[in-house]
Amino acid sequence: MSKRSPAQQLLYTAQQMALTGLNKGTSGNASVRLETGFLVTPSGVPAEQLHVDSMVHMDWQGRAEAGKNPSSEWRFHLDILQARPEVNAVVHCHSMFATTVACMGHDVPPFHYMIASVGGDNIRCAPYALFGTQALSEVALAALHERKACLLAHHGMIALGKDLSHALAVAVEVENLCEQYWRLLQVGQLRLLTPAQMLEVHAQFKGYGQWRDPV
Ligand code: 13P
Ligand code: ZN
Repeated sequence: MSKRSPAQQLLYTAQQMALTGLNKGTSGNASVRLETGFLVTPSGVPAEQLHVDSMVHMDWQGRAEAGKNPSSEWRFHLDILQARPEVNAVVHCHSMFATTVACMGHDVPPFHYMIASVGGDNIRCAPYALFGTQALSEVALAALHERKACLLAHHGMIALGKDLSHALAVAVEVENLCEQYWRLLQVGQLRLLTPAQMLEVHAQFKGYGQWRDPV
């Protein structure tokens, strides 16, 4: 994927989000860091209608290139990329299980060791804020503190990566964890790992595959 241009990578990511079922219709968006700012998907265009030149360049002042309408969520893409220098890509989706859990307003507790792969002992759920607002960006940034992903109450999830394929992999993992958590909630017996067990998992991840990455 890295031999493609940033716009090609962004197109591929948006298409993958639709193909894997993470997004449906016009929900969700993605961005990738450039030296001059970032590229973000356009607002309200379903994946099957996107082209390489649909992608919108934005500068660090939040100015979009002329004649293009960036994702309504450009504020949190900009704020995350500015606040987190180790992050080069942001994906946002309304995937079924992450969104279901987000609509319950739950942080996802450490019911499975893979929760640690997202960067802590839980996946936080940011309080509700209106889509496309600075308020949403602020609650999202707080929920993402020292994390690679968060849920957005009554909305969906955000996942971060060192590049787009990494951010997509984090989103897939969060969706998987939320599906497992949702199934456990149906059974009604939640048994959690202890803080000491989670500490051990974090240490074990330091030598494991791609999770060695600082993001
Ligand atoms: P955009 O099509 O403007 O990116 O909006 C989709 C979305 O998910 C809003 O939160
Ligand atoms: Zn959304």
